[in-house]
Amino acid sequence: MPERHEIVCYECGFAFVLQGRFEKTYCPKCRQCLTFETITIDGVSRRTVKTIGVVTVTPAGKIAGGRIVATDVILAGAINGGQVCVSRRLELREGATFKPDCVSMRDVRIHAGARIALDHDLVCRDLEVDGFLKARVHADGLIAVRRGGFLSGEIHGPRLAVQDGAGLSAVLDVGPGCAPAAPRKTSTAPAEKPTLSQPETRPEKKKRAPASRKGKPRKAAQNKST
Ligand SMILES: [Zn+2]
Repeated sequence: MPERHEIVCYECGFAFVLQGRFEKTYCPKCRQCLTFETITIDGVSRRTVKTIGVVTVTPAGKIAGGRIVATDVILAGAINGGQVCVSRRLELREGATFKPDCVSMRDVRIHAGARIALDHDLVCRDLEVDGFLKARVHADGLIAVRRGGFLSGEIHGPRLAVQDGAGLSAVLDVGPGCAPAAPRKTSTAPAEKPTLSQPETRPEKKKRAPASRKGKPRKAAQNKST
C-alpha cells in the first residue's frame, strides 16, 4: 500500500494528501514547486531550509540561526535562534527546548517517554500528550492526553480528551468559548511571498478543526455583565 503524506504547502498553507514516493510536487492551489527532503540536524545549524518533509533535530542538534520551514519537526535538541515554521506538527522528544519566539507550529505532540517542562506558554491548535508535559497550554483545537501520558499545569481551550490510563493535574479552563489568550502565530507566512498571478483571488480558506460553535470572547464578556 503506498504511503500517504499529508502535505501543507509552505508557500500558501494549503493542505493536501499525496501518495507514494516523490522528491517534489506542485501545490494544487498556488502551483508552487515544493521540494520534499528529509533532513537531520545534529550539530549547530544556521541553515535555511524549505521542505514539505520532516526535519529532525537530534539531542546534539542546536538551531541557532537561519530559517527552517517543514511539514513536521521532530525536536530532541534545542531551537535557540533563527526561525522555525512547522506547517503541521512539532514533536517534542526528551531533551527538547525551544524559545517560543523562534518557533511557530500548528499542532504539538509530546512523544511517549519524553518529560518536557516549559517555562513559557505553549500555543497551538491540537496537542497530543503521550509523554509528560508541564506547561501552560493555550490550544484552539483538541487537547488529547493519551494512555501513559501526563499533563500538568494550566489548560485553556475548547476541547479536552483524557484517555483511560492518562494523568491530568491542571487548572482547567475548557469548553466552547475558551479560546487561547494569546493569538496563535500561523506557521506559514504567506505575507512574505511575492504575489503570483493567481487565477482565483478568494480569501484563503484555512483548514481548522471542527471547532464546535466557539463563542466570541466579546460576547462572553457581555453576557457576564448582565
Ligand atoms: Zn501553495
